[in-house]
Amino acid sequence: MAKKIPTRLYLSEEEQPRYWYNLRADMKAKPDPILHPGTLKPVTAQDLEPVFCKELVKQELDDDTRLIEIPEGILEFYRAYRPAPLIRAYFLEKELDTPAEIYYKHEGTNTSGSHKLNSAVPQAFYAREEGLENLTTETGAGQWGSALAMATAFYRIGLTVYMVKISSEQKPYRKALMETYGAKVLASPSETTEVGKKILAENPGTGGSLGCAISEALETAMKTPKCRYVLGSVLNHVLLHQSIIGQETKAALDKYGIKPDLIIGCAGGGSNLGGLIAPFMGERIAGKSSTRFIAVEPASCPSLTRGRYAYDFGDTGKTTPLIRMATLGSGFIPSPNHAGGLRYHGMSSILTRLHKDGYLEARSEIQSDVFQAAVRFAKVEGILPAPESSHAIKAAIDEALECKRTGEKKVIVFGLTGTGYFDMTAYISYHAGSMTDHVPTDEELQRGFGTIPDIPQNRQPV
Ligand SMILES: *Cc1c(COP(=O)(O)O)cnc(C)c1O
Repeated sequence: MAKKIPTRLYLSEEEQPRYWYNLRADMKAKPDPILHPGTLKPVTAQDLEPVFCKELVKQELDDDTRLIEIPEGILEFYRAYRPAPLIRAYFLEKELDTPAEIYYKHEGTNTSGSHKLNSAVPQAFYAREEGLENLTTETGAGQWGSALAMATAFYRIGLTVYMVKISSEQKPYRKALMETYGAKVLASPSETTEVGKKILAENPGTGGSLGCAISEALETAMKTPKCRYVLGSVLNHVLLHQSIIGQETKAALDKYGIKPDLIIGCAGGGSNLGGLIAPFMGERIAGKSSTRFIAVEPASCPSLTRGRYAYDFGDTGKTTPLIRMATLGSGFIPSPNHAGGLRYHGMSSILTRLHKDGYLEARSEIQSDVFQAAVRFAKVEGILPAPESSHAIKAAIDEALECKRTGEKKVIVFGLTGTGYFDMTAYISYHAGSMTDHVPTDEELQRGFGTIPDIPQNRQPV
């Protein structure tokens, strides 16, 4: 008889991965190069170094090195909260009465409550190694700011977080958490930057936006000595750091001889999903497996399922380099949605490429269906999931129910990116029956597409 799989698939400290896996090295078609917005030529390390740490620039532009050794100074912090539990969802399987085996990788056990710490740690570490004294960033929902505050406290460097004003008012506890770790949190737009002052003069009552907070953080990084800007998703180096999720998941599944048929994750900018699937996708590309991969995005912000494949800016202020990605246009403003971490107009160029080449499937879900899945999961597995993570739960439940219909015994793995303790307003709205589902019309999407830059690269078929 086969040995029973434990509820938690442990990895000892010796079995923990010591390498990040750079999926780009094994992709047959690489993501398109990032372009300088002025010259429209591929960016060089020199172009990026005034904004980002040197080591991160190197990782960003490296399409060839497969395995990158994780420095001891980073492993030290990873060991404090990793490996993240890989859990067999026995209770959920029973609840659904499905023949499928369901597993989830739980990234919400650290205090910041999400997978974002996996990239915050190396980003703060490299900044300190390079003699920097301060970092700036933006945060919308607050998970990235919280993770970076933890990491900068550990490595003893300063941090200024521009938090979207409306979000800082709605989530005061997130702000207090960041301040506990020593970060300076400013509601954006603020009076501390030229761009902030300009926006405030034009719209005194504005609640701010992620695009505006990015512009403020960038400006401050550029004008402060020994200071750089850091970003928590979308970019190649962030996906590289997040490959620790997939490396651990694969090590644990291999240890128990389990082969996943289906891997599911939510997708905002694509970092958790890109990290979770990386080593499995490498095998699929090499023809060694037939694992399927599914990205789940909110119907209110559907970049992979309804976006354009084009070169676009990363921010509303149109100041960043151009990335070829699935995009709704940097001027697209998603309707207020409780999955704050999924409200981004673009998608990682790696995931975009994989989707375009048929390796990655994508679907979108409306938020009331997502919360129904969240509550069903919470009741049986006990964990209160973040609204973002619940998009993956919804798809995993649907797939498991499909197995019940067909009798197939698929192995389903999904990424549980975080916990929802700071999202109780969303749960209150769901329980009160006052949650709304806004799906943008084609006309609304057209307005966003209208903000995609009209450059020669976007006029050629791709
Ligand atoms: C930020 C966030 C996401 C989405 O970001 P990705 O870069 O797409 O992974 C998902 N879940 C949680 C809990 C988050 O904080």
